[in-house]
Amino acid sequence: MQSRNWLITLLKAGLGEDKLNTDDRSMLVVNLFSLVGLLLTFSLAIMALTKHNFILAATLFIASALFLSGYFVQQRTQSSKVSSNIILYSLMVLMVYMVYTGGVHNTGPLWIFLVAPVTLFIHGLKRGLLGIAVFVVVISTMMFFPDNQLLATEYSFHFKTRLLLSFLTITFLAAFYEHSREDSFQQALNISKEFEKLAKLDPLTKLSNRRDALEKLTYEYSRMERTKEPVSILLCDLDHFKSVNDNYGHPAGDQLLQEISQQFKSCIRAQDTVSRWGGEEFLFILPQTNVHQAVHLSEKLHECLRSFSINYQEHDIGCTISIGACEISLTKSISEVLQLADNALYQAKADGRNQTVLVAAHELAANSEDRQA
Ligand code: GH3
Ligand code: MG
Ligand code: MG
Repeated sequence: MQSRNWLITLLKAGLGEDKLNTDDRSMLVVNLFSLVGLLLTFSLAIMALTKHNFILAATLFIASALFLSGYFVQQRTQSSKVSSNIILYSLMVLMVYMVYTGGVHNTGPLWIFLVAPVTLFIHGLKRGLLGIAVFVVVISTMMFFPDNQLLATEYSFHFKTRLLLSFLTITFLAAFYEHSREDSFQQALNISKEFEKLAKLDPLTKLSNRRDALEKLTYEYSRMERTKEPVSILLCDLDHFKSVNDNYGHPAGDQLLQEISQQFKSCIRAQDTVSRWGGEEFLFILPQTNVHQAVHLSEKLHECLRSFSINYQEHDIGCTISIGACEISLTKSISEVLQLADNALYQAKADGRNQTVLVAAHELAANSEDRQA
């Protein structure tokens, strides 16, 4: 158990503590490659030393040092980009050297099978295959050059052709695996993006839902802290909407909500957001908009709805709205601003509906105790 924890700590060096994301996963595999590479080359170097094969031992020690450096570079840079290249190119050069010298009793070339999966993992399918192709051209040229002039050893023709064929077969299988892995990854990514999108939408009106609106409002609030550009909100509620449901049925109410949402959308600019805040309540978020411009939009909305109606089972059903308008002030928190807009909306209802009430400047200017605390 203890040794397992020790191993996990080694493998997870430089990674975040939380759930692993895609980058963390590739860092984990790169850590694994460098540690396995280090262990292997170091042990082989010791063996070569005992056999007095000093040049091979030195080469393997250099390779293990490079694998170790890949491990530490990743920890330092917190990214697998540089370290994975160090590991891959060290491996390739080492393999070319193994083919050139034959290693111990001409068994060196057997290690080249590592190249295919490692390259495909690090560089992905396209770049990986290109890298492998270059590697194959290099070792084939070395092995098949007339009179073994590019080799320090000698291989039989049968060995060379079978080595090459089995390497190409492994490459093909690894590439096929990588292709399906990339494919499934892309599919999973698309599904998660789709879910993410759906999680932000109100299913009936296809407007932003309350959660997304709050996120956008928080974003605009912090942007306003930086840029000092005004942001306004309109909290809007359909008047006597219950009577639409009561008189024509719930589906009529639904249709009205859908069509009025489209109407609202057609009235705002690209940078504005209209969201379904609740049942028949809508929140407009208006960046770079001061209170006068917000009131102008609210008037436009009232005006639009004068000629707006839906046609439901031969009935024309119209609707009016009441609005609480507020220019966001940094002296208030987001929830306080929303509360003030809600109070203004309540006032608009109390004053007879189909109108806009503005949050008074003095209400916004007062520094709330909450925020000071
Ligand atoms: P007021 O002018 O005071 O806002 O009156 P109102 O009738 O609009 O307000 P009230 O809060 O009394 O009723 C809101 C109604 O909205 C009640 C609820 O059934 C209806 N509603 C909420 N969500 C939906 C929905 O998704 N579809 C339909 N058809 N009705 C909904
Ligand atoms: Mg209402
Ligand atoms: Mg309401």
